Amino acid sequence: MSLQLTKLVKPKLNDISSIYRRFKLSKVTKQSINIVWLKRDLRTQDHLPLKMAEDSDIPYIILYLIEPSLLKRPDWSPRHLWFALESIKNINVTLKECNKQVEVLFSDAEEIFNSLSIEYQILNIFSHTETGVKETWDRDVRLRNHFKSKRINWIESPTNGVIRGIDSRNGWDRRWYETMRMPIIQNRYSNRKTVSIKFNKPLPKNLTTSLSLNTESFQPPGEKYAWKYLSSFVVDRSEAYLSNISNPSKSKKSCSRISVYLSWGNISSKQCYQYIKYHPKFDQNKRNFNGFLTRLKWRCHFMQKFEDECEYETRCINRGYELLERERNQEFITNWMRGKTGFPLIDASIRSVVASGWLNFRMRAMLVSFFCHHLDQDWRDGANFLAKQFLDYEPGIHFPQFQMQAGTTGINTIRIYNPVKQSQDHDKEGVFIKEWIPELESCPVDSIHEPWKYYSSTDFFQDIQPHLAYHKPIIDHKIGASNARKKIWGHRSNDLVKLEKQRILDKHTRSNKLRMKT
Ligand SMILES: Cc1cc2nc3c(=O)[nH]c(=O)nc-3n(C[C@H](O)[C@H](O)[C@H](O)COP(=O)(O)OP(=O)(O)OC[C@H]3O[C@@H](n4cnc5c(N)ncnc54)[C@H](O)[C@@H]3O)c2cc1C
Repeated sequence: MSLQLTKLVKPKLNDISSIYRRFKLSKVTKQSINIVWLKRDLRTQDHLPLKMAEDSDIPYIILYLIEPSLLKRPDWSPRHLWFALESIKNINVTLKECNKQVEVLFSDAEEIFNSLSIEYQILNIFSHTETGVKETWDRDVRLRNHFKSKRINWIESPTNGVIRGIDSRNGWDRRWYETMRMPIIQNRYSNRKTVSIKFNKPLPKNLTTSLSLNTESFQPPGEKYAWKYLSSFVVDRSEAYLSNISNPSKSKKSCSRISVYLSWGNISSKQCYQYIKYHPKFDQNKRNFNGFLTRLKWRCHFMQKFEDECEYETRCINRGYELLERERNQEFITNWMRGKTGFPLIDASIRSVVASGWLNFRMRAMLVSFFCHHLDQDWRDGANFLAKQFLDYEPGIHFPQFQMQAGTTGINTIRIYNPVKQSQDHDKEGVFIKEWIPELESCPVDSIHEPWKYYSSTDFFQDIQPHLAYHKPIIDHKIGASNARKKIWGHRSNDLVKLEKQRILDKHTRSNKLRMKT
C-alpha cells in the first residue's frame, strides 16, 4: 500500500520539468500591456496619459470604468453617465481611424484591475489625478497598495493646476499660471491596434433604461461641442458676458457654457486658458475675457480646496458650524426641490435646472441661500439634490461653493439673497419666470415678482383649478432672512468657529500680494 502511494505521489523527473515548463510558459505568454484609465478627462488632445501610452512601445488598453458602488452615491445621476458615455462615443469616432477604442467596463475598479492582471502583465497605468469625493480617494489609496504589491507602476498626471499634497497655498497662483501657459500636448495616434480584452460584464438593464433621458434641453456632449461652444463664445457670445452674467435668461447665451465640458474633461483648463488668452480678439474684449479667465482660476482654486480636504462633502468646512442646530422640515425641502415655494424666481430656477442641467452662478447661489437661510435647512439636505441636476457637476467646485453660500466656511461674507429683489434686479420683465412657471402666464409683469400681492383672492392659488394654481409663499421671506441673520452672524463669535477660521485661513488662503494677475 505504502509503496503504491509513493508511486502515485512521487512525480517523475520529466513530469516536474513539464509542469515547470508549463508554468514558465504561462508566465511568458502573459502579454505585457499598459493601461490608460480615463476619468474626468474624456478628450483626445492635451492628454498626457494617452501620450505616455503612445510613446511607449508596449500595447495598451484605454479604459473607462462604471463602478457600481459609485452609482449608489446620493450625488450620482443618470444624466452624468449619459454625458460621459456620449463623450466616449465621440472619442471612439476619432480613435477608430487608428484602430483604437475606449473599453467601457462595468464593475468596481479593484475587480477590474484584478481580473486584468490575471490575464495580462500590467506594466504601467496612466491616468490623471482625480479630485473626487472621499469614496474615490479611498478607492485610489487601496488601488495604490494593490498596484504596489503587483509591481504595477501607476503614473498619475496632475490636471487643472491642482497640486496633490500641499500644506500651504503660498506659490500656488504662480504655479497655476505656469501650468496654464505650458505647451498644449499634441496627441498623435499610431495605427498600432490596442489590445482587445475579454473582461465583459454588461450594464444592468435598469441602468441602461435609466439612460433613456429626455436630453433635448441638455448641452451636447463631447470634444467637438466643447470647441464649438468655446469658439462661439469668443467670436460672438461674449460681448455682454459680464453685464448679463446674473440674468437667468440672457446668461444662457452670453455665458461661456463651458463648465460641463471642463467637468467631464472634453476640454482642458489649459486649452481654454490659452485659446482665450492668445485669441486675436482678446484685446477687443479684454474686460469680459479677463472676467472669464478669473473664473477659470476660481474653478481650480475651489478644486484645490477639495483636493486638500474632500470631507467637505459631508462636514462643515468650519467645524464650528456643526454646532448650529436646525430643525429638518421635510415639507420645505420637498417644496424647494419641486419648484413650489411660491417665490417665482426660486421656483423657475429649480424647474429650469431640473430640465436643462444648467443655471448661472447667481441663481445657484440664490437657491442655496434660500434653502439654508430663509428655510433654515441643513446644507447637506440640498447639496446632493443640486449635484444630481447639474450636468456640469464637479464635486471640487460644488461642495465648497455650496458651503460658501450656506455660510458654513466662517471665512466668507454671508450673503442672504432676497428672492424678491433678485427677481426684480435680474429678471425685471419676468421673462425667465414666465418661461418656467406657466401658472403665472396671465400675471401682469409689475406683479410677477410678488404675485401674492396681486392675487389677493385665494382662488388663484389653490381653489378653483388646482392644476393651474400657483403656490402661496411657504414662508415670509423677510422674517426668514432676519432670523437667519441673527442665527448665523451670532454664531460667528463661537470659540470653535474662531479657532477653525484661523486653521482655514492658514490652509486654504493666500495673501492678496501672492495672487498674480491673469
Ligand atoms: C452652489 C453652487 C454650486 C456650483 N456647482 C458647480 C459645479 O458643480 N460645477 C461647476 O462647473 N460649477 C459650479 N458652480 C459654479 C458656477 O455657477 C458655474 O461654473 C457656472 O455657472 C457655469 O457656467 P459657465 O460655464 O457659463 O460659466 P462662466 O461664467 O462662463 O465661467 C467660466 C468657467 O469658470 C468656472 N467658474 C465660473 N464661476 C465659478 C465659480 N463661482 N466658482 C468656481 N468656478 C467657476 C467654470 O468652470 C466656468 O465654466 C457652482 C456654483 C454654486 C453657487
